[in-house]
Formats: sequence, C-alpha cells, structure tokens
Amino acid sequence: MDNKNKCINNDQSFSDVSVNVNKKREKYLEWHEFFMATAFLVAKRSKDPVSQVGACIVNKENKIVATGYNGMPTGCNDDDFPWSKITNDPLESKFLYVCHAEMNAVLNKNSADVKNCKIYVGLFPCNECAKIIIQSGIREVIYMSDKHSHKVETIAAKRMFEASGVKYWQYLPKSEKVVIDFNEINWNRQSQVADTPSCNLQNEEVAVPPSWNPQSEELAALFSYKEDHDNHIVLSRFDSDIYD
Ligand SMILES: [Zn+2]
Repeated sequence: MDNKNKCINNDQSFSDVSVNVNKKREKYLEWHEFFMATAFLVAKRSKDPVSQVGACIVNKENKIVATGYNGMPTGCNDDDFPWSKITNDPLESKFLYVCHAEMNAVLNKNSADVKNCKIYVGLFPCNECAKIIIQSGIREVIYMSDKHSHKVETIAAKRMFEASGVKYWQYLPKSEKVVIDFNEINWNRQSQVADTPSCNLQNEEVAVPPSWNPQSEELAALFSYKEDHDNHIVLSRFDSDIYD
C-alpha cells in the first residue's frame, strides 16, 4: 500500500488546483467506511482508560439511527464509579457497572425500533450485547476487531448469532486512517460572524440574538464587549481589516 492510499484526508480541497471541479469527487467515504469511522469517532467519547469501543446502528436506508460507546449508566458519575478491571474489593470492578457500546446504542436509538438494522462495532460483541442485538431485531453485525475470539463470551455470542440468523462479518478497511482535520475548510480564514452585527460595525450598539454568545472566543478575537447602563450589549471592532 503506498502512502497515498494510507489515509483519506483533504487531498481534494478547494485549494487543490488539480481537482476537476466538473467531475464527481472520487475519494469520498464509502458507506461501510463512513459508518465504521462513525463508530470509532463515537468511541472517542469513552472515559474507559483501557478499552474505548463505539457502535453505530444504521437502518435499511443507510441512515444512522443510534450511536453508543462504553460508559457508566446515566446518573452514575464517571468520576465516582470505578474504572479498574481487577480490584481487591469485588464491588470496585468496572465490569459491574459499565454499559457496553452496543447496549447504549440500542437503548439510545432515535427511531421507534432497530428492527432489520445493521450495527457497526469496533470490537466483536460480547455474549450480553449479542443477546441485546438479537432481541432488538438487528440482523447484521459488522465488526473490525475479533481480538477476543478465544474467549467464551465471544464464542457464545457467535453461537447465538448463528442460531438466530444474525449475519456477522469483519470489515477490512481500504485505508488505514480517516483523518478529521478541522483546518480542512479553512474556517479560520473566513468570517465566522453572522450578518448581524454588520461588518461595518464601529462602536455602535447592535441587536444580538439571544442564542448568540458575544463572549465566545472567536468573537472575542474580533470585538470588545461591554454592557451599557441599560444592559444593552455594545460591541466594538478591534480591526476593520479582518474582512478585507
Ligand atoms: Zn458487550
């Protein structure tokens, strides 16, 4: 594999003069790649120090209906509950508390159900998650790693999937990496300020939408902010050349 194919990134950005802008872009993410990458991105939310797993559930129309990652149950503060695997006190093991990614995805769905859906997971589901997957009506499991294939949990999971007709297969990525680069869209070179206040603003009072936070970092770089005696927000431009 050459370096060119090792990752998908911004090699077709607007600044790339070699791009044929009249032709369909070629290096877009394919569906499987996109959904598996979503599962991996979701896993970044996990607080687990050892294992970060994400899951992404997709319906027949290739729409994402749920995501989940391994974490403590709602209301169980992840600063208070244990993250250790093996402890002297059996009550202090994370295994008693952590909800797996697949369980969270199924329970967090934003659709009525997940019948006939597919689930993308970084790691082959354990036996407990296999039960949830089967009972929820998911019909296909796409996984990346099967590193626990020797464990009874995985063997039992496969036994149940096979008995209940849930298809499972390993996704082998075409690219080693999918890069998310926040600079790709050159956002920091563009005006991030909405039409209100106007670009001609100079020490004038402006109407500020309630949702607009004038103390945000990006606006703080452009405007000084203060409130007058009537609690009206007054913004003053630091540098009128920014928009030139
Ligand atoms: Zn599990």
